[in-house]
Amino acid sequence: MVASQAEIMKHAISEEYLIFMRLALDEARLAAAAGEVPVGAILIAEGAIIARAHNQREALQDPTAHAELIAIRQAASHLGSWRLTGSALYVTMEPCAMCVGAAILARVERIVFGAWDAKAGACGSIMNIPEERRLNHRLEIVGGVLEEESRELLQGFFQGLREKLPLNANR
Ligand code: ZN
Repeated sequence: MVASQAEIMKHAISEEYLIFMRLALDEARLAAAAGEVPVGAILIAEGAIIARAHNQREALQDPTAHAELIAIRQAASHLGSWRLTGSALYVTMEPCAMCVGAAILARVERIVFGAWDAKAGACGSIMNIPEERRLNHRLEIVGGVLEEESRELLQGFFQGLREKLPLNANR
């Protein structure tokens, strides 16, 4: 049986998703190693990686230093333009309202994310900003790519934090 064109396309796209999400996971591991909540992001434009970043909220003591926001700033600086039209943002965890907002302002075309975030995710979890019809920029969302790896990284990080709490020292 010959696979249809659509099936071939779908296959090619999902392979690409996996390749870039693995790189975003590498960034998330860098965050974990630095004692930051492990979230990593990669920005792709015309098939090339133009930014890679991880959460740096603790290091910078900056509440906006999320991986996605840092990646968007790096990408705009790299291109010399705030318009990231046609670009794709890969991030290991569902973006929050701030990061989705920034991606929309930057005209990012697609966000591919790993784990869902029931506490702050703004791509379907606590709200769904990309589906907001009143916004004039359409943002394509692909969620759950390598979801388990991203979630395990986050859970492992928080488990490690709990074990360090003095309350648990005598367990
Ligand atoms: Zn965010």
